[in-house]
Amino acid sequence: MSTAALDLNSLGNVRHDWTLGEVSALLALPFADLVFHAQRVHRTYFNPNEVQVSTLLSIKTGACPEDCAYCPQSVRYDTGLEREELMAVDAVLENARAAKAKGATRFCMGAAYRSPKDKQLKVVAEMIRGVRALGMETCATLGMLTPQQALELKEAGLDYYNHNLDSSEEFYEKIITTRTFQDRLDTLDSVRNAGINVCCGGILGMGEDETDRAKLLLTLANMPQHPESVPVNQLVQVTGTPLKGVEPLDPFDFVRTVAVARLLMPRSHVRLSAGRTEMNDQMQALCFLAGANSIFYGEKLLTTDNPESDRDQALFKRLGISPEAPAVCADVNEHESHHCADRCGSVRKTAVENAAHA
Ligand code: SF4
Repeated sequence: MSTAALDLNSLGNVRHDWTLGEVSALLALPFADLVFHAQRVHRTYFNPNEVQVSTLLSIKTGACPEDCAYCPQSVRYDTGLEREELMAVDAVLENARAAKAKGATRFCMGAAYRSPKDKQLKVVAEMIRGVRALGMETCATLGMLTPQQALELKEAGLDYYNHNLDSSEEFYEKIITTRTFQDRLDTLDSVRNAGINVCCGGILGMGEDETDRAKLLLTLANMPQHPESVPVNQLVQVTGTPLKGVEPLDPFDFVRTVAVARLLMPRSHVRLSAGRTEMNDQMQALCFLAGANSIFYGEKLLTTDNPESDRDQALFKRLGISPEAPAVCADVNEHESHHCADRCGSVRKTAVENAAHA
């Protein structure tokens, strides 16, 4: 489809029937037009001067049996990463308190599992209860989940589950061989059916082409319900992983992908995640302009004098950006008073339900 055939005025409508031709045509728009429309649509659904801030803590590190070619946590690659067993609940909660004190409103707990064992899941559920009691939104990423495990996490008060598609189905097979693209979709179904918000996106700069990026976005945008969070990661090349040395992505193609994600899923939070620390301030500002409205603070944030968190705070100040209030409060009445209560019905509904567990 040529860009001339796109109906630019209808951008901003929430749709689930995008075609590959439309997505490719959006990616091919002149850069200024694309960013203009993304910003226009962004303002329809969000305050453009607010960014949601999440903190990620690795609660179990390394020794993962999967073979994701980008990941230093895979047991198959020698990256010098130190393995760590599942953390104690108290230690996780201490980190969550520190993150909250530094402005994070969502706390994401990541464990390098193919899929968690039931015993491990119970410990994570306890962590989730503790973090929710602090009035923070909770997110977890633990690998594949069965429908029953997803229900258990929901019962513990989990707000979001992160499980990325990584790339197009075709390119995915070149990156991971130990589980299928369909396995990923099945886990996402379990999460959605359990009533947990979905956090799902991909990684750019792994050697994929523009069609792969278009297909990744198409799969996300044509889900029956858009993921509430869409992380757009830029590959961090780690020595020892098979993807070390791939041709880096043109930064403008990264911004284009962010902008098209904003246009295809206008009500979702589009998150800058991995690779952000390698972007300069101008690049990050361009991503915010293109509709990104969520960031991850890495776990290094949790150390007392963290230059990265200082840099983020300085950037927010220079750009006049404020952290977005959490969509979940420990107290239901308090939640009702937040502006977020009118913004997204599904998030609000989950928030209120989860607050009842807190
Ligand atoms: S499943 Fe997760 S932790 Fe394991 S290798 Fe893949 S990305 Fe890394």
